[in-house]
This record gives sequence, C-alpha cells and structure tokens, in this order.
Amino acid sequence: MAASGGGAVRCSHVALLDPNNVLPYVQWQTRDRALTLARKFQAATGLNLRTRPKGGRRTCAQQNAIYAQGRTEPGDVVTHASGCLSWHVLGRALDLDPVDASGRLQPGSAYAWAGSIWKALGGKWGGDFPGFPDIGHFEYHPGLTIEQACPNPTYCSAIEASIQTTMPFGYGVWLGMVTTALVGGAAYGSWKLWQRWRS
Ligand SMILES: [Zn+2]
Repeated sequence: MAASGGGAVRCSHVALLDPNNVLPYVQWQTRDRALTLARKFQAATGLNLRTRPKGGRRTCAQQNAIYAQGRTEPGDVVTHASGCLSWHVLGRALDLDPVDASGRLQPGSAYAWAGSIWKALGGKWGGDFPGFPDIGHFEYHPGLTIEQACPNPTYCSAIEASIQTTMPFGYGVWLGMVTTALVGGAAYGSWKLWQRWRS
C-alpha cells in the first residue's frame, strides 16, 4: 500500500499479475500455491509477481516445438524436456517475474527470494536446477516425479487431457463435510456452554 502525491491511496490486492491469462489453465493446486507465493512475496518485498506470456500450461505440440529449437530447428536449446516430460505440459509449472509497481523487472536476488518462499510452500524452484538454472521457473508436484506423471512422453495427449484445472468434485464435497462438521461442532459446543451458564 502506498500513498501517491495526489492524495489518492493505491492499494494493490492482486499480488499475482496475469496479463496473458495463463492461470486458469494450470493445475488447481499449483495455481493455489502460486497465489499464496505472490501474497507472501508481496508482503515481504512490496513487489508483485507476473506470469510470462507462455509461462503457464503448454500443449504437447507447443512443448515439442520448443524442444526442436536448437536441435532439428534453428536457435538455442531452451529446454531439455519433450512431450509431457515438462511440468509445464502437466500444468504444474509457472514462469514468473518479480516486478515493481511500474512493471519493471527485478534483479536475480528478487527471484531467489521468491524461490525460497516457493520451496517453503513445498515447490521446486528452477534456480536450483544443476547445469541449467531457470530462475523464473516455479513447479509444484509434491511427492510426484516426472517419470510417474509422464511414464512415456509419446502418451502426452492422454496425460494432458487428465489435468484438473479446478478442485475435483469429490475433494470439494469432502472439504464441505469437514467444514460442516467443524462449524456444527462449534455451534453445539456453544449451545452446551450457554445451557450450562443458564442453569
Ligand atoms: Zn518454466
């Protein structure tokens, strides 16, 4: 929150900027964690995080096109992953840049800060990748290896179709039941206390 010279107060509640609308298409827990990351990062540094134009989920075809770059196509090698061997294809990776209020990119130390918060939230940060560090890359797949998620990169389309971008129905119902039980339990407890107080 910052007061500008004109007397108006600018208050940004949106910590994670998504100008290219990539967030709705990533796996739901990954998006949820990224929103938490951005809130914590903003609270600590006053900076925002911003998604890159192609920094969300990629189709198998898009990933294979990037993989071809520097191999069968001109350009520099930018990825070591083909097919579903990229967490981007699995909807569990985001490429993010720390930016100030004017949208200016921040130095590497800001990425490292975001990376340390991300790791505390259970994610893996691309800045730690040996030999091929990628400081703007954040992936979330606790307990899951890429070999488990993508046993065969040529099955990419089938795996791509199974990505859940919203909380699954069963999970939501279960959460609802727990919430109802907790709220109900608290209400019952209050009622019992009130009865005891009355008598
Ligand atoms: Zn990435």
